[in-house]
Amino acid sequence: MNLKTDVVVVGTGAGGLFCALNLPRDREVLMVTKAGAEDSDSFLAQGGICVLKDESDYDSYFEDTMRAGHYENNPESVDIMIRSSRGIINDLVKLGVEFEKENGGFAFTREGAHSKPRILFHEDITGREITSRLLDEARRRQNIKITEHFTMVDIIEKNGECRGIVGRDENGEMTAVTADYTVFATGGIGGLFENSTNFPHLTGDAVAVALKHGAEILNADYIQIHPTTLYSEKPGRRFLISESVRGEGALLLNANKERFVNELLPRDVVTEAIYKQMEKDNKPYVWLSMQPIPEETIKTHFPNIYKHCLEEGYDVTKECIPVVPAQHYFMGGIKVNSSSRTTIPRLYAVGETACNGVHGKNRLASNSLLETLVFAKRAALEIGADTEKPADEVEVDAESRRGCGGDYKQAVKDEIERSRKYHEQHNNEA
Ligand SMILES: Cc1cc2nc3c(=O)[nH]c(=O)nc-3n(C[C@H](O)[C@H](O)[C@H](O)COP(=O)(O)OP(=O)(O)OC[C@H]3O[C@@H](n4cnc5c(N)ncnc54)[C@H](O)[C@@H]3O)c2cc1C
Repeated sequence: MNLKTDVVVVGTGAGGLFCALNLPRDREVLMVTKAGAEDSDSFLAQGGICVLKDESDYDSYFEDTMRAGHYENNPESVDIMIRSSRGIINDLVKLGVEFEKENGGFAFTREGAHSKPRILFHEDITGREITSRLLDEARRRQNIKITEHFTMVDIIEKNGECRGIVGRDENGEMTAVTADYTVFATGGIGGLFENSTNFPHLTGDAVAVALKHGAEILNADYIQIHPTTLYSEKPGRRFLISESVRGEGALLLNANKERFVNELLPRDVVTEAIYKQMEKDNKPYVWLSMQPIPEETIKTHFPNIYKHCLEEGYDVTKECIPVVPAQHYFMGGIKVNSSSRTTIPRLYAVGETACNGVHGKNRLASNSLLETLVFAKRAALEIGADTEKPADEVEVDAESRRGCGGDYKQAVKDEIERSRKYHEQHNNEA
């Protein structure tokens, strides 16, 4: 089957949705997702979303982001993200997103490596609050159509330009979607790992397809391991214990229930300290105590974590919980410029699958939802500003409809390894 649209967006997380919503309403937009529309990591985000509180916080926010990223960040991207943050929050509020308030203004929380509280939150389900509002709005828009359980397996390339995608539906039927513009918003790569906080269907497909078509990929080995997920012997997605519990006072303890690290150091440093401690203690976890946090705060700020731990047999108001690091976030990705344009004309990438350099080597907590939204909107504005149709029509032949095939997961793993070796060699030379 062949379909035709103006813009095809792959992925219905915050990146895909916000891009679609910011495209002009006279453009026909087709959004596709590999799973159900709500099955995205954007729905899982707990801690919150950063914002520039006021001008006096600019230098400190900028420095915190750069320091967490080991100064490998792209300063231009960091500046754009911070400067755009207030506007993005205003957009969200207009769409009905509710953030915690105090004294008539926003309430701010704090997470590791932030020198000040500057994170807006909605209980411990900020991602659900934001993304469900975006999804509701997208479903209301006449020009946006959402197709679920449709897996993008390739792009249609003509004369070096991207002219749409090829995808497979639940029944294995292949469809070619031709479009003037294509936006990859396919999220992270957690599905490649045994222990991850991500949905397992997020396997970096867009990275594999981009690689096949010669797009540039950056820093594929920059993968964030979150220090604290609830330890479990059951298989499947790891349940995150948000960093904001440590921001609110929770402590990390060794087997003897003694502190062994400053809990608010950057994620990579805390993760490293936990791994060392696990080895010393000869245990597959360390302890996290939420008891320093008032019971009232636990129940109002972290109701989801409280409930989930209770279901797993732990009352966090009275006892420690076992925690272990797990794969969490992909800082690398498809190289894009500050408008989220990839190195292939007419192909954009936004959100976790893209790399505009905001996060450097290590992401500062609660910068990813913000980065995703800021750069998804920039992609939409650039695409929206171009009113010219491509000069030629695309004929999709049977071969293009077959998709690029091959082992996508292995292709991404190989790229991670290639990038790891490159950095190793580069660091040895430096
Ligand atoms: C447990 C958890 C907690 C988090 N907490 C926070 C937080 O507090 N603050 C913060 O800023 N960030 C947080 N993050 C990170 C943040 O949620 C993500 O980085 C961000 O939401 C990514 O958005 P996205 O749109 O790029 O991808 P996602 O929201 O993951 O969406 C990806 C979409 O692509 C689709 N897709 C993938 N491959 C294909 C394919 N081949 N064909 C079709 N569709 C495809 C998926 O089905 C999905 O719809 C958290 C992440 C997790 C996992």
